[in-house]
Amino acid sequence: MANLLILGAGYGGIAAAKALEKAGQPFTLINKHEYHYFTTLLHEPAGGRNKFEEYSVPLRDVLRQPTSEIVKARVTELKPQGNTIVTDRGELAYDYLVIALGNAPEYFGIPGMQEHALVLRSLDTARQLHEHIEKTFAAWQEDHDDTRLCIVVGGAGLTGIELCGELADWMPELAAQYALPLEKIQLINLEAAPTILPMLEEDLRAEALRVLESKGVQLRTGTAIVKVNRNQVELKTRETIDAQTIIWTGGVRANPLIEQAGFEVDPKGRAKVNEFCQSVDFANVFVIGDSAWFTGADGKPLPPTGQAAEQMGDAVAQNITAQLQSYPMRPFRYNNLGTLASLGAEVGVGSVKGVRTKGVSAALMKEGSKAKYLWHLGGLRMISQKRGQFKRKG
Ligand code: NAD
Repeated sequence: MANLLILGAGYGGIAAAKALEKAGQPFTLINKHEYHYFTTLLHEPAGGRNKFEEYSVPLRDVLRQPTSEIVKARVTELKPQGNTIVTDRGELAYDYLVIALGNAPEYFGIPGMQEHALVLRSLDTARQLHEHIEKTFAAWQEDHDDTRLCIVVGGAGLTGIELCGELADWMPELAAQYALPLEKIQLINLEAAPTILPMLEEDLRAEALRVLESKGVQLRTGTAIVKVNRNQVELKTRETIDAQTIIWTGGVRANPLIEQAGFEVDPKGRAKVNEFCQSVDFANVFVIGDSAWFTGADGKPLPPTGQAAEQMGDAVAQNITAQLQSYPMRPFRYNNLGTLASLGAEVGVGSVKGVRTKGVSAALMKEGSKAKYLWHLGGLRMISQKRGQFKRKG
């Protein structure tokens, strides 16, 4: 029996594991937590929309077959030359490896960013961010220091924009809760590029801008952050902004373990894979999701999205099964289903399967896509288990 290891239980790893389970193929899934969390929705609990517990599911509730082994461990090194990996619980050998270790923040060498900025990349960092804002705002009554009420978000990609929408909804609640002057609260988004959400068409971007501005978000495009100090950002324009909450959503790169292991990588540190999502360096290693450098049919590398990771997970499960059963592997074809950006709980913008949507209908579509994902993870059982996700925090 081939020894098959999957590293990481994000969107890609969990999709590969589910598909292998369905194919009756035993595997060991190694993950640093005993749960899978919904990375692309972390802005929701960070902004207080729902409880944090509603954004994760125990791995055992998703992978229910006795042949699926789950090991809680942190991967610390990849040794593809010797077909082993190292974890904080020891070294493990494999015949086939699926690397689905996700991403790390891209700081672009901006001085002080890593030291002073919060990030939104896991349940833990989302909780940290939420608690930091609440604590900082709550203390305003003690010293009336207005920098406590200033939040700066760096980056207007999906993470930054969706987070701003959520935080904007939360501000009136926080103001009422801690008797704060709402007019003194500042939520500023700084984006280096000329536009926000470059993946959307111009009129949808304009709609996102209109909605966020109506919620009080100050959006400044063409404004690069060049340095971060404690409670202060410095801009390329030589201006400074004092803020006790600085959040970085300026981009991602591959998990650094990939580059350290000697794979051929792109400038984002992603391992080069062929049309089967198989490493070009090691034939028994498949790399998926944000850690993979896969060139699509248009000749461009796939962006690091949850939907690409999920589709790659399914594809490698089929390709490994093909290898084990000695039939040909099939090239992976990415099917871009589109993008939906929420702008707070009630509205959004986006385009799905060519259908453009905005306002409440976009928010409803987003809720629908969440339910569909839960269905995919565990059928109706999972949807009813998580139905509290649609209730407001209380
Ligand atoms: P991103 O790379 O898409 O956006 C980062 C933004 O930060 C860019 O617009 C960039 O110009 C800006 N930036 C970089 N340096 C800057 C600087 N010095 N000052 C100011 N701005 C700066 O990153 P992201 O939003 O974290 O998204 C990462 C990936 O994850 C993307 O592929 C995205 O589509 C995906 N994602 C998907 C969802 C979803 O499906 N709902 C949610 C979040 C992220």
